[in-house]
Amino acid sequence: MRIILLGPPGAGKGTQAISLAEEFNLPHISTGDLLRQNVKKSTQLGLRAQDFMNKGLLVPDELVTDMLAQRFKDPDIKNGFILDGFPRNIHQAKTLDNILKEANTGIDAVIYLDTSEKVIIQRLSGRLVCKNCGQNFHKTNMPPKADNLCDKCGGQLYQRQDDKEATIMARLEVYRKEVSTLIEYYEEKQKLYRILADEEAGIVLNRMLQLLKERRDSLKV
Ligand code: AMP
Repeated sequence: MRIILLGPPGAGKGTQAISLAEEFNLPHISTGDLLRQNVKKSTQLGLRAQDFMNKGLLVPDELVTDMLAQRFKDPDIKNGFILDGFPRNIHQAKTLDNILKEANTGIDAVIYLDTSEKVIIQRLSGRLVCKNCGQNFHKTNMPPKADNLCDKCGGQLYQRQDDKEATIMARLEVYRKEVSTLIEYYEEKQKLYRILADEEAGIVLNRMLQLLKERRDSLKV
C-alpha cells in the first residue's frame, strides 16, 4: 500500500503517518524529517536546505527529489510506504510518478487532511518535537508525561524554528499557493480522499482506518 498524506502544515500529517505506519507495518517517509536529519548532521544537503527551512520556504525541488529517490532505493519500501510532506507541488508529484513508474508501481491513495486555519495555528504554535526520535507532542493537546521530555525515548523536546508565528504564516502561504493544483492532479487520477482533520488525532485516525477498510480491495490493504 502506497499512501500520500496531503494537507497544510499542522494538519497532523506526521502524527497520523506514524500511526498508519505502525498499523500497517510500513515505513513512514517524511521529507521534513529527512531534511532535518541532514541539517543536524551538517551534510551538504542540510547546509543548502537550512536557510529555506528556517524561512518557511520550500527547499529547491531537485534537492528534495534526489533525496527521496535515494530513500526509495532502500529495500524496506517494497511493500509500500506512508509518505508525508511530499509532494509539495505539481513538479514533485510528476517526479514521484516517474520514480514509481520505473519501479512498475504507483500511488494507491492520497489522503487529504482537511484542516481549518484556526486549528493549524493552534497546533503549530504549541507543537514540541523530540530532538532524538522526532516524536511530536503539544503543549496542551498532547503534553508529554514529564516536562520537556519525550515519553518514548526520554529525549529533550524543542520548538521547531519554523513553528514560530511569523514563519507559520509564510509556510501557510507557500502551501496555499500550491495545494489546489495538487488536489486537482490527484482528483483527476481518482486517487484523492478527503478526511476532516480538525478533531483530535485518535478521531482522525479512526476516520482514515475506516476509509482504508472500505477501500480494502482497491487499495490492496
Ligand atoms: P515539514 O516537516 O513537512 O513541515 O517540512 C519542514 C520544512 O522542510 C518545509 O517548510 C520545507 O522547508 C522543507 N520541506 C519538507 N518537505 C519538502 C518538500 N517536499 N519540498 C520542499 N521542501 C520541503
